[in-house]
Amino acid sequence: MSKREKPPKEKKPTRTYQFRLYPTHKQERTLEAWLVLCCEVYNAALDERKSAYRIAGGSLSYEDQCAELPGCKEVRPDLALVPSQVLQDVVKRVDLAFAAFFQRVEEGKKPGFPRFKSRFRYHSLTFKQCGNSFKIHTQGRKNRGMLELAKLGQVKMVLHRPITGTPKTAIVKRTPTGKWFVNITVERSPKQTQESHMSPSEKEVGIDVGLKTFAYLSTAEEIANPRFFREDEARLARAQRKLSKAAKGSKEREKKRKIVARTHERIANRRKNFIEQEVCKLVARFGFIAVEALVVRNMVKNPRLAKSIADASWSQFFMRLLATAEEAGRQVVKVNPAYTSQTCSACGRRQPMPLSVRVYECPQCGLVIHRDHNGSLNILANARQACGRAGRVIPEAPGL
Ligand SMILES: [Zn+2]
Repeated sequence: MSKREKPPKEKKPTRTYQFRLYPTHKQERTLEAWLVLCCEVYNAALDERKSAYRIAGGSLSYEDQCAELPGCKEVRPDLALVPSQVLQDVVKRVDLAFAAFFQRVEEGKKPGFPRFKSRFRYHSLTFKQCGNSFKIHTQGRKNRGMLELAKLGQVKMVLHRPITGTPKTAIVKRTPTGKWFVNITVERSPKQTQESHMSPSEKEVGIDVGLKTFAYLSTAEEIANPRFFREDEARLARAQRKLSKAAKGSKEREKKRKIVARTHERIANRRKNFIEQEVCKLVARFGFIAVEALVVRNMVKNPRLAKSIADASWSQFFMRLLATAEEAGRQVVKVNPAYTSQTCSACGRRQPMPLSVRVYECPQCGLVIHRDHNGSLNILANARQACGRAGRVIPEAPGL
């Protein structure tokens, strides 16, 4: 009954593509119905586990609960309309939620019990096994594709880029504004991975993320902070105020809720586009990229800085940078952020650097340099050292 020990599978490199889906009205109604049913199954499976844990102190396994699904379908024939693998994945999600819970208990933390999901917060369906519960059809014409889903049929899909690799899972999801997307995860062979690599580049860069500017490069270039996030946030605050004033359950409220959701989506999209563009530019130019290993979560606790940090979305930036660099065969090195702003990048002397001081002036060697530029040079130097590339970089700062 307990979890069987499986030999660790060798992990092949994966990649996830996201494509927009355009289901017909009828398909959309079916997908919506599936989401409601899956949410019900999720909550039922969670409830059963909670009872088992609280009453008997025991635990049910994924296999135990999957074995109950056919019986459930007899009692609730509408469940049979949902592909079996999709339902099994719902049980898997409960299993993962519990595994994470027990993990935290083991670590001596006091985690909250896994929670029931509202049907408004349940918005994705997982299809496993390509060729069985889903298929991908590419058509001759550019961008046209079809995603074939078990028990649903073919859904229009915009293939804005070709898929390379072997598709493993497809997660169909609905955004709060009612758009549909699919995330297709593929596995790649070493050869396919190799093919996606860019031609090698000897160029190196250190990147210092800041508050006044989004990032500063050791090449003395600046990536400006996208201030449009601020404007969007003001718009969001307005929309949220209006929503809170609308009477509960009214049509007006539903309208306002949609406006809030659209604003959220817009902010997320603009942020994503901005980050995507900057990351692509960096990866195309540099073969060796040094960044700080930032603990963003700690920094956000400081309420004054929080807004700007959230604005700048560094963690998203680093995640995209790592993924894109790996895909392109570029090296990204994370360095300890300690003293990167206090150390003189030319002579190594340290001095306190409060956030308000924007220019680094070294009394020992006379270096005068933009604070973040100095940081980026230190980050690059530390990364080089960590990788056995010797030598400090000589700063080419204006005003030297
Ligand atoms: Zn100095």
